[in-house]
Amino acid sequence: TTAGAADPLAQLNPAQRAAVVQGVGDRATPGAPLLVIAGAGSGKTNTLAHRVAHLIAHGADPGRILLLTFSRRAADEMGRRVRRILTQMSAGRPGLAQAGLHWSGTFHAIGARLLRDYAGRIGLDPGFTIHDREDAGDLMNLARHELGLSATKQRFPQKGTCLAIYSAAVNTQAPLAEVLQASFPWCTEWEDELKRLYRAYVEAKQAQQVLDYDDLLLYWAQMVADPVLGAEIGGLFDHVLVDEYQDTNQLQASILLAMKPDGRGLTVVGDDAQSIYAFRGATVRNILDFPAAFEPPAQVVTLEQNYRSTKPILEAANAVIALAAERFTKNLWSERESSQRPRLVSVKDDADQAAFVVDTVLARREDGLRLKQQAVLFRASAHSARLEMELTRRNIPFVKFGGLKFLEAAHVKDVLAVLRWAENPRDRISGFRAIQLLAGVGPKTAGRVLDNVCAAPEGCALLAEQPVPDAARAGWQEFAALVERLAERPQWPADFELACRWYEAQMPRLYDDFAVRVLDVQQLARIAATSPSRQRFLTELTLDPPSATSGEAGMPLLDEDYLILSTMHSSKGQEWNAVSVLNVVDGCIPSDVATRNSAEIEEERRLLYVAMTRAKDSLDLIVPQRFYVTQQMGMGDRHVYAGRTRFIPNRLLGHFEQISWPPPPPELQGSPASRQAAIDLAAKMRDMWR
Ligand code: ATP
Ligand code: MG
Repeated sequence: TTAGAADPLAQLNPAQRAAVVQGVGDRATPGAPLLVIAGAGSGKTNTLAHRVAHLIAHGADPGRILLLTFSRRAADEMGRRVRRILTQMSAGRPGLAQAGLHWSGTFHAIGARLLRDYAGRIGLDPGFTIHDREDAGDLMNLARHELGLSATKQRFPQKGTCLAIYSAAVNTQAPLAEVLQASFPWCTEWEDELKRLYRAYVEAKQAQQVLDYDDLLLYWAQMVADPVLGAEIGGLFDHVLVDEYQDTNQLQASILLAMKPDGRGLTVVGDDAQSIYAFRGATVRNILDFPAAFEPPAQVVTLEQNYRSTKPILEAANAVIALAAERFTKNLWSERESSQRPRLVSVKDDADQAAFVVDTVLARREDGLRLKQQAVLFRASAHSARLEMELTRRNIPFVKFGGLKFLEAAHVKDVLAVLRWAENPRDRISGFRAIQLLAGVGPKTAGRVLDNVCAAPEGCALLAEQPVPDAARAGWQEFAALVERLAERPQWPADFELACRWYEAQMPRLYDDFAVRVLDVQQLARIAATSPSRQRFLTELTLDPPSATSGEAGMPLLDEDYLILSTMHSSKGQEWNAVSVLNVVDGCIPSDVATRNSAEIEEERRLLYVAMTRAKDSLDLIVPQRFYVTQQMGMGDRHVYAGRTRFIPNRLLGHFEQISWPPPPPELQGSPASRQAAIDLAAKMRDMWR
């Protein structure tokens, strides 16, 4: 190290240091494969950032480092950490800290970039459109109708189920029959029809030059399975590092192996106890099988000290995960003393839960904790509805992660459909949506226009002369001119302004609440202004959309203080000083939709472990005695009596401080015990039927 520069390695413990320097030799030539496997908050992500910085400091070319993370947010955060570490090291070596990572992001985003670059080599049009899950569902539906497979008439599976089965088969690379047997047993009778459907779906995608999310991995895997391309693309990178490896699927593992068959330069980190994406085809086998996938086997480093949470919080989390059926990483220990155990808070219902959380959040803010240092976590996005109302009523800004995706908002989809269709006129789903934004144009006209335009070589140039209903005449020419202009003379970001100006004129007719929605369109414009091209804008937006829509509370500005609301899944990898978890009751965690088999229940247990281990200093698990469930098929809402989650059985109660809120009135002092008895009894009555 140059004189005067701090040595960041000094901040790490010996095991972390070993993971950082393992195999980094002269000029940082790629070394043997490395696995870091350890529990939550043990510094895996931090160690990965140090390793990247260490590699760069020892001469690795930052442009030849591939860093794969779980979200764009995580990739950005990692980039910041790497720069911070390099700054510490760089006294006397100016320029070192400027090193930017060119290849960092999610598997899907990196896949999209590589596919655009290599499209020509695999016979793919580089102008392909990426469909999000909703678009994919629409296309699946179209294919289903064309084959006459009806959900109502024949009780054929719904489009969401069709897509889920398809996606599971692609991501696990398992035969359809096996996937049906394992996860969708009620659909086994439809195997032949599903095969026909998927063939039609794939053909439609090929004809329209669209790729869905799964295709980004699938085509990438196909591409690198070719030995020549595999070596060439693998050769772009000296080092490949992957965070949260426990949540990768079969396809992702095969991509890594094809790019780095001998594992040289490959580093993966993860925690089997935090594997929470099996429902999307992720498999914990990836991390467990990693060492033996190479000859000689990969180096393995384990970490045992948790630096995040206080002792009582960590011990409670350890106790919860200790009941798991299967587990490989060891329990962690912490040096952070605290007299405060995590709290189990019993409240009457959803309304009290919301009131309690808001009161607690405000009290903590009084004590000097910013809103941003606090988070509220929940199993399902809908669980925060009551809380969101309460926060809005009391003027507390918040941002919600993992809920309704920005991109799923109808108005955002509208304006993007116009751009995407101009980009790729064969994309029927986007065209269908865009055309119907016009006054007086319905699905019939849209379908006819698409038939005439989509496959024609002149494409959008034919738009102006299409026959449309009289009511639509006036607007049609303007629309046709817009699309033709966007298609023929693309100019970024001016294109987006044109599309927006046209769309904003349509909005009042389309939405009563257009005044709120227009804010999102403006947010899009801000993002567009920083994107280098229309293609990059559309790709990045589809893959890593902004996390929140402008709710009633309005989107807080980024430098403002706001409370974090997040699903447990989206909280992965993050940490806050204070964490509250909503609805820690059976039916919510484990969720009613995930109790079909023990594997699903085990995954729910790990999910609760993930949520609990996000907390640094204080943790509240809230247990409403009653909560509302929205019934499907129009049966209205009902409330059910809930019991504390089965993942915290009575024998673990010693790890928690139990309180009731609001505190009982004086005449009922001493009643919390009887209240608890009532809750326990209710749970017991239900358990009889489990
Ligand atoms: P998760 O499993 O939740 O993703 P993780 O293992 O990736 O957790 P990190 O997020 O890297 O853990 O680290 C958790 C916290 O501990 C961070 O605040 C980090 O800065 C801190 N930390 C990690 N290592 C050390 C260390 N050696 N000394 C002090 N603090 C540390
Ligand atoms: Mg991490």
